[in-house]
Amino acid sequence: MSTRQHPPSVDTLARSLASSGLPHTICVDIARAAIAADDVSGAAARAEAFRRTLLTPVVNATGVLLHTNLGRAPVGHHQEPQPVNVEFDLATGERGSRQRAVGQLFARLCGAESAMIVNNNAAAVLLVVGALASGRSVAVSRGESVEIGGSFRVPEVMEQSGARLRDVGTTNRTRLADYRRAVADGDVALVLKVHPSNYRVKGFVEDTSVAELATLGVPVVADIGSGLIDAGCPWLSGPPPAWLADEPAAVQTLAAGADLVTFSADKLFGGPQAGVIAGRSDLVAACQRHPLARALRPGGLTLAALQHTALAYLHRRVVDEVPFWRMVATPLADLQRRAAAIAERVPAARPVSLEALPGAGSAPGSTMPSFGLELAGDHLQALRAHDPPVVARGRDGSTLVDLRTVEPADDDHVAAALLAALAAAPGGARNGQVAS
Ligand SMILES: *Cc1c(COP(=O)(O)O)cnc(C)c1O
Repeated sequence: MSTRQHPPSVDTLARSLASSGLPHTICVDIARAAIAADDVSGAAARAEAFRRTLLTPVVNATGVLLHTNLGRAPVGHHQEPQPVNVEFDLATGERGSRQRAVGQLFARLCGAESAMIVNNNAAAVLLVVGALASGRSVAVSRGESVEIGGSFRVPEVMEQSGARLRDVGTTNRTRLADYRRAVADGDVALVLKVHPSNYRVKGFVEDTSVAELATLGVPVVADIGSGLIDAGCPWLSGPPPAWLADEPAAVQTLAAGADLVTFSADKLFGGPQAGVIAGRSDLVAACQRHPLARALRPGGLTLAALQHTALAYLHRRVVDEVPFWRMVATPLADLQRRAAAIAERVPAARPVSLEALPGAGSAPGSTMPSFGLELAGDHLQALRAHDPPVVARGRDGSTLVDLRTVEPADDDHVAAALLAALAAAPGGARNGQVAS
């Protein structure tokens, strides 16, 4: 099509893009931009590129179970378009609290007096510090004055909340006596213990346990981060996995004497994005009364999905109903069998032992045994171009597909994407010949 002489009308070109499935107004924008750029023949590719910016289900073949770029824990929650008693008390017929339903379940799960839900764990820490320590000091070990994932930096959260950061101890060693000295001047409203989720300090290191901090006489708040509920993992049939060894858990942290814990709901808990504050009911109530609570409150969809996950724990149906824990509990032999079945259809793919990662900054440096497929050459882009997109991992110029993070129902998509990627690669007709 020679656009210079006969540029098509915007409307004609936009209508030719209808098969992209995009709304007409978007097709008009794309058509107009393509004509302005003298790129009429590229209009369909522009529409496809736009479509690929939209949220869409993908196959996570990275072997990172909680992949932050892929929304951390996968959750399946279906809801009919019906009203829900989000803030309505069915017993009295009056306005109720949106914190009640899910809050009581989390209190039960954590062994806490009370619990509330906010949008994420960063919001939980901000609210706790703002509600309990604004205008006063918060004692934090220098070893825990950390940055977790880009913009969550403890000193900056402190600043935003209106509390003053009171540095305690040194980067590698902080003792109870250091905290005692800080608390002695009377300005410290609470002690915040932050789990260094995404890094480890090794060597000449010492920190102070929650049980010791609980003797200081000021509230102890533990940001445990990853949201492991119970270190004993009673929802698994065997013992807790070795890779969880260094992760603090809500039940044990509260039992050790923490007055509050905060954690993310979309990490090791395996639910939707949310933050949980659990512990002493007077402190949770103070958080609920703070004006920020309104700005940080979760929506009904989040609460419903969270309730679904919390009930799965209480019913002891975690491995069946929480996808993250189902992935963790999948026997290696299942992954090996699935890899062999895919390799039968895609002979160029070689079954390999792999190491999967918990992800989301949980248990850094720890891996769990996994299994998948290796393909010579870098096919990452071609796999992402598949429908549904398959997100794999590269290693030394080859492509790795880790099946621990792939739903078994998606194995067909993985096989089809691998065949398509091989066919698209240089020399692809030879590689991809044995399709079935
Ligand atoms: C992940 C994490 C956060 C941030 O939680 P979000 O839910 O991502 O806001 C804060 N503190 C710790 C210790 C964490 O591990």
